[in-house]
Amino acid sequence: MSSGDEFKPFPHFATNALHAGQDFTQWKSHAVVPPISLSTTFAQEEPGVHTGYEYSRSGNPTRDVLEKCIAALENGKHCMVFSSGLGATTAITHMLKAGDHIVAMNDLYGGTNRYFRKVASKFGLETSFVDLTNPANLKPAMKPNTKMIWLETPTNPTMQLVDVKACSEIAHTQEGVFVVVDNTFMSPYFQRPLDLGGDISFHSISKYINGHSDVIMGVAVTNSDKINEELRFLQNAIGPVPAPFDCYMVNRGIKTLHVRMQAHQKNALACARFLESSPAVEKVLHPGLPSHPQYELGKRQMQGYSGMITFYVKGGEKEARDFLKSIKVFTLAESLGGYESLAEHPAIMTHASIVKEEREALGITDNLIRLSVGIEDCDDLVNDLAQALKIAVPSA
Ligand SMILES: *Cc1c(COP(=O)(O)O)cnc(C)c1O
Repeated sequence: MSSGDEFKPFPHFATNALHAGQDFTQWKSHAVVPPISLSTTFAQEEPGVHTGYEYSRSGNPTRDVLEKCIAALENGKHCMVFSSGLGATTAITHMLKAGDHIVAMNDLYGGTNRYFRKVASKFGLETSFVDLTNPANLKPAMKPNTKMIWLETPTNPTMQLVDVKACSEIAHTQEGVFVVVDNTFMSPYFQRPLDLGGDISFHSISKYINGHSDVIMGVAVTNSDKINEELRFLQNAIGPVPAPFDCYMVNRGIKTLHVRMQAHQKNALACARFLESSPAVEKVLHPGLPSHPQYELGKRQMQGYSGMITFYVKGGEKEARDFLKSIKVFTLAESLGGYESLAEHPAIMTHASIVKEEREALGITDNLIRLSVGIEDCDDLVNDLAQALKIAVPSA
């Protein structure tokens, strides 16, 4: 079982992506590719004497393979996967009790924002949304009943960075406070929050880790035995576990994570540099551009950049709509992190659940466009952006 076994990862990322948790000797058949174990129940020799598996909600061999693999990639000891990113958020938040307080980064994935505001609040959990791009804002926001700090870096969609090390040090000055870092935008290949002092590294696996836009899943990785024990209990007690087939799919997608991330990085940097040079673009937000206000922090806490770019097209909603109607290689769709290039309009699509004033205060204006740059040919992507900008902003 993944929870108890001491597991020694390999020295390097790519080897872990391919081999961590995949040891063929765990199967009687010595199958090199881990089998999909669909059985919901496992035979016992006598009551209470079993192989470590009893019922698939509490433990499944295919899920264990995946959990071991992701743990190794995050440099973590324990890993739990959930039926979605928000399923993982729900389970993590259930570690708190009514009357507890959460401090969250003010610029968050729209669904996380909605969960804290509209769901957790009903169960007596209060959340303060704070601009944590300045770590000095954290301490004054903490209360005696603060239990959880929820960070996201880079943020979605405005690509602000949060200093995970600085925030974790401040958070840990108060007993019993744990730090969760939403690492979805970077994948473990480019950022490892546990190494920076975070207590839980969280991902929507639906994005880069699976990378093929065909599975919804989430994950929490931790080095803390205490968090593991509580969260493992909640994974089973609440029940948002993924299907064995989906675990198989993700375990397969991960085999190319390092190769994909390098390609995403290369293509996105080329697109970001092109956009920055275009007179049809007002501003580009990409942490790998020296124009990014936190370029130095990015170089310090990340090992590279993913495929995510946000930019402001010159004009307003009309220009943004015209651009999004004119793209041909990029597809107009929500989500991110798949092999295919996507473009979307956060104010109308992914971040519509945030009230307009708050959205605009965060810089999510009507001319803001988010790109998830895929791994197609780089020239085709840049040329597609160029032709769509020409249609959207003909005067530029
Ligand atoms: C998609 C996403 C989530 C939510 O994950 P689901 O798998 O869609 O439930 C959380 N955080 C970020 C940054 C995301 O992009």
